[in-house]
Amino acid sequence: MNNFYTVIEPELSEVKKIIMRDEFTKNDLVKLLSVKSKEGLEYIQKRAYEVKKEKVGAVTYFRGLVEYSNICSKDCYYCGIRKSNGKVGRYIMKDEEVYEAIDSAYKYGYGSLVIQAGERTDEAFIEKMILFLKYAKKKSENALGITLSIGEQSEEVYKQLKEAGAHRFLLRIETSSKKLYKEIHPKDHSFTERLACLKTLQKLGYQTGSGVMIGLPGQTISDLADDLLFLKEFDIDMVGMGPFLEHEETPMFQNKDDLLPRTERLELALKMISILRLLMKDINIASATALQAINPIGREMGLKAGANVIMPNLTPVHYREGYQLYENKPCIDEEASKCRGCLENRIKSIGDEIGFNEWGDSKHYFKRVKD
Ligand code: SAH
Ligand code: SF4
Repeated sequence: MNNFYTVIEPELSEVKKIIMRDEFTKNDLVKLLSVKSKEGLEYIQKRAYEVKKEKVGAVTYFRGLVEYSNICSKDCYYCGIRKSNGKVGRYIMKDEEVYEAIDSAYKYGYGSLVIQAGERTDEAFIEKMILFLKYAKKKSENALGITLSIGEQSEEVYKQLKEAGAHRFLLRIETSSKKLYKEIHPKDHSFTERLACLKTLQKLGYQTGSGVMIGLPGQTISDLADDLLFLKEFDIDMVGMGPFLEHEETPMFQNKDDLLPRTERLELALKMISILRLLMKDINIASATALQAINPIGREMGLKAGANVIMPNLTPVHYREGYQLYENKPCIDEEASKCRGCLENRIKSIGDEIGFNEWGDSKHYFKRVKD
């Protein structure tokens, strides 16, 4: 049984007071995270959307997502494409397929691209990344912004990738609790190294993105408040965070009975998005695809809760089965062109405009580098 909600829910009057603050103590964050009443949650969400509107605009930016390969040298205990999962067929997208996906992002007016993959550090892999970055920049005449999400690399490689055209990088810290980090990764993974990579990315001038998984076994309200404070303390520019979703072919599936029910994990993830928007008002927050694995309109709920970035999938349909980081991954059989129409309508229905053909960079980044 999970006993996550150990803190008494604050009175509505207190919630109303806390959400209007500009600075938050850990205690404030813990209190907001323990809100469960429908009314209380509505207040938090409404305030977060107001802040989003005021600080970054009621605009959703698109990043066309290319899941280049599911080959991974790592063995994270939670992830469906970890190297020890022998049940998943491995793939690498053909160069032409990557080019086609890049062309689609441009054609659809997405403004930006995310290239994501399992972690590899070999030269052949990095050379391919450089090839795709250069192609995207040249073909779009620099109209496409590019984010990479390819794990831990050396400073030299991060530098090469930046020179080839990547200007944003996503590397989730997964959890800011060193204890929990150890529990969800094998011995050869290191919290310190992951943090060092994030610092290198920041130093090299990348718009730096990170995030955490929400609802991990053994995770407490205090851990999540610390996660939020970690992102603030690090001065992160972009965040992608979503619910943890158990995958049958991973070691962490054995903890499935210790988890919060899925609907509660969704509620908690949306609450984390809203509270982060209150805490870091001008950053970019992605509405993670994992939200949609719990509810078909989970990503739109994320935008309503304060997120301002969404990543429509451009990976060819026949590879999607192979890129299941978690089970229930949505849209595994839907063509990019079809996803597009339904997504646009649902975004408009929550009141956002769509930032077509714009990079939609993190406002926080420009402020950070200026300061
Ligand atoms: N290999 C790269 C990018 C791919 S994994 C990297 O690890 O950075 C991208 C993200 O998927 C991870 O950071 C993790 O937070 C998320 N993820 C993996 N397995 C998950 C699961 N079971 N539930 C929820 N998110 C998961
Ligand atoms: Fe590999 Fe990333 Fe999955 Fe870890 S989370 S196993 S690094 S793809």
